Parts: sequence; C-alpha cells; structure tokens
Amino acid sequence: MENKAIYPGSFDPITNGHVDIIRRGLKIFDRILVAVLENPKKGPLLTTKERVDMIGKIFKDQEKVEVKSFHGLLVEFARENGTNTVIRGLRAISDFEYEFQMALMNRKLSPEMETLYMMPSLEFSFLSSNLVKEVFMLGGSVRDFVPGPVETKLGKKFGTKKRVQIQQKAGKNAGYL
Ligand code: ADP
Repeated sequence: MENKAIYPGSFDPITNGHVDIIRRGLKIFDRILVAVLENPKKGPLLTTKERVDMIGKIFKDQEKVEVKSFHGLLVEFARENGTNTVIRGLRAISDFEYEFQMALMNRKLSPEMETLYMMPSLEFSFLSSNLVKEVFMLGGSVRDFVPGPVETKLGKKFGTKKRVQIQQKAGKNAGYL
C-alpha cells in the first residue's frame, strides 16, 4: 500500500522552511499531500487558490507531491484522502506547546491518527510566514526566504508603494523591523 502523509498548514506564503520539510518528508513517504487551510478570517495575504497554485508550481516536477485546499476537521480530510499520518514542522522553541496540544487533540478525535514532527535545517529554524509577510509588506526583500515563484507572485500582487500603504493603513508593524 502507498505510504502517504498529509502536511497541513496555512502556507501564506509557502517559505523555504516549508519546502525543506516537504523534501525531508519525501525521503520517508511515497506521497505527500500538502493541505492548504482555507482561512479567510485570518486575513491571508494570498487567496487559497493562489497558495495552492504556488505550491503546485514549486513542485511541478515532483509527482509525489499533491496539493489540495481544505476546511473543517483535519482528521476527516486526512481520512477522506487515504492517510492517517500528519507531518508538521518543529522550529526552535516556539512551536512545541501548540503542536503538542494539536497532536493530542487530533489523536483524541481520531485514535489511529499519528503526527510526525520534522526539524528543518538550522537556517530555516527561525523562519515563519508571518515574519516574511511583515518584511515584505514593509517593503523589504524576501528573496532569501521564499522560493522564486513566491517572490514573483508577491511582487506582482503588491507593488512596493501599495504594500507599504496597506501596512500603514492597517497600523501593523512588527516590533523591530
Ligand atoms: P499553521 O497556520 O498551521 O501554523 P503554517 O503554514 O504557518 O501553518 O505552518 C505549517 C507547518 O509548517 C507547521 O507545522 C509549522 O510549524 C511548519 N513550519 C512553518 N515554518 C517552518 C519552518 N521555517 N521550518 C519548519 N517548519 C515550519
């Protein structure tokens, strides 16, 4: 039987850290289903379709990677898609407590569900979509943090002036950026 895992997340946008986890996962699993969470309330930078398309583009030559969007309970979506193994990434310090809660809750909801944590390369261990978003929206370069197609897409969707204006209007600014 095919050994398949699901890698769920917001991927808003997908970063080099996510790509690192997917590549590591491919060493263990025959197939990885990247499951993009539909979360309009979180005010995503990219629409669900844009996020799915972006990941599809990055892995267009890798037939072992599949991408779908989902809403509702992850355990149900995983079951519908023929897997009960979840992959998540674990970064330095910050992820542990939240991930521990999620894994145990998912196990409670579906006892056959197992969650596997993978550590990215050191260079990605402090990288998050949120921080990438902040840097980008303040007019900074995200070239070192995201795959090429993501940088291009973001640049096309938000010109430099537009993004800085949006950021100012929202009154959002990360502490020290
Ligand atoms: P979520 O909204 O579910 O946290 P994310 O897109 O932020 O979605 O992250 C999806 C998964 O990828 C999570 O398990 C997260 O810990 C992991 N992840 C995010 N960024 C990195 C990174 N730089 N290195 C390794 N794992 C990461």
